[in-house]
Amino acid sequence: MQLLEERINKDGIVKEGNVLKVDSFLNHQMDIELYNEIGKEFRRLFPDKSINKILTIEASGIGIACVTAQYFGCPVVFAKKAQSVNIDGEVYSTSIESFTHKRTYNVIVSKKFLSPDDNVLIIDDFLANGCALLGLIDIVKGAGASIAGAGIVIEKGFQKGGDLVRSKGIRVESLAIVDSMSVDGGCIFRH
Ligand code: 5GP
Repeated sequence: MQLLEERINKDGIVKEGNVLKVDSFLNHQMDIELYNEIGKEFRRLFPDKSINKILTIEASGIGIACVTAQYFGCPVVFAKKAQSVNIDGEVYSTSIESFTHKRTYNVIVSKKFLSPDDNVLIIDDFLANGCALLGLIDIVKGAGASIAGAGIVIEKGFQKGGDLVRSKGIRVESLAIVDSMSVDGGCIFRH
């Protein structure tokens, strides 16, 4: 998505440790006009009328998922980071290793909000090693729901997540794929 690539080139900051900071328009301050274009593009890429739920993970996926959901006319469910493993059986849970925070979270979704009747589009801001996305996939599968695919805003194509998830037969559509990046040279995109 050209608009997004231009914005990453203009305002993205490449940090040591393979981290791309996009705080000024995506992850902290949010450019809602850009979010709207992102939502429209996800709808174009996933025209399937049977998608009836969007699943994301707190916190940075929520805003993108909400704006996107307006183009799908469906609710958003976000996986919550939980302090402890829930043992009462009322939630689906999985554990996710965080790329940016270098720690492992338990995440949960209430069984009330995902069922075998659902056809779920997963939305997230970044795809790096794939842990967050694989965790969300695990939750959808645990609910017996269908996965329509995953919509990612920025995929770091030089990390393993994209290949890993696609090799499982899941459709992943990333609006910008960074093939390489460096502190001095910025981002090179895949086309
Ligand atoms: P993964 O689980 O695929 O390794 O990482 C995905 C999650 O880590 C995303 O939800 C995102 O919050 C965070 N993340 C991974 N890489 C980056 C990055 O380069 N920049 C930012 N801002 N977040 C990232």
